[in-house]
Amino acid sequence: MPNFRIKSFGEFKSPVEQDSAQELDASTLEYIKAELREVAPEMEGFYHDMHENPELGGEEVETGKRIGARLQEMGVEILKEGINGGGLIAIVRGKEGGPTIALRADMDALPIQERAENSPRSKKDGVAHMCGHDIHTASLLGAAHIFKDLAAQEKLDGDVVLVFQPSEEKAHQKASGASRMVARLLQMGYMGEGGKIDAFFGAHVMREMPRGIVNVKEGVQLASSGEVDIKLKTKGGHIMNAFEVPNLHLIFSEITMRLSEVFKPLYEKNEALVASARTAYGGTGYNVLPAEAKATWVVVKAKLKCHTCCCVFSLKSARI
Ligand SMILES: [Zn+2]
Repeated sequence: MPNFRIKSFGEFKSPVEQDSAQELDASTLEYIKAELREVAPEMEGFYHDMHENPELGGEEVETGKRIGARLQEMGVEILKEGINGGGLIAIVRGKEGGPTIALRADMDALPIQERAENSPRSKKDGVAHMCGHDIHTASLLGAAHIFKDLAAQEKLDGDVVLVFQPSEEKAHQKASGASRMVARLLQMGYMGEGGKIDAFFGAHVMREMPRGIVNVKEGVQLASSGEVDIKLKTKGGHIMNAFEVPNLHLIFSEITMRLSEVFKPLYEKNEALVASARTAYGGTGYNVLPAEAKATWVVVKAKLKCHTCCCVFSLKSARI
């Protein structure tokens, strides 16, 4: 097991009030390290199983059942399950008077075909855990195990809420997994004004980070994304009139090239947007230039060049 180091890109401050934050004593730290070694094979086993059996956002029913079964085996109290298909909220209760911390893991896969040589490998054609959400879920289950043991030994001050969130990859949609989980936590009195949760942490693996480094930063850490849909209309015409009738696909190509030119330097500085062409539709006749065409760009607010799946970016259906 690597020694973990924490690297901060920018100043990090705990959202928990300083006077209620406590340093871990050396014996507890050693205990946690020993527990980590103990639960590592169990976490790896869950990761393998989840990687081989991926489910897309909104369809994580079996994944949710597996998580629920594992939590029950550990004796962790499940507060809600089956949220938006497979979402779960569980809690490890520690000593009274401490803060309530929430930890969140996402659980959905992507519509991508995994390479044949990978191991473990998805058993489902066209669906694979390519964003690491299987690692997140396995890690949160490992954390649940350790917190449960700490609580049993009366070494845990306060409660830990475990949030297994579905549909992260559909964050650009209104009914995203995050909004469903937040709505449920609001209903339950865990979030919102007077809510029980004092601090909420989410984490994401990042291939650019060296092994053994934990990167923390105050404020926004990961990227957000959204879609821009553009619909173009013209008069259309016969393909032989290519130089008289605007070719909408040519215009989409031009837009894509220009966006790439504009955003690449900003992306490289980690400070602005990238926009990638996703779809372009238009035209049906063999020799007809379309009178109407639609295209979609995915726009990512690139913080630390990482992920497209972390929160909602409201730039939908822009028109030009
Ligand atoms: Zn992700």
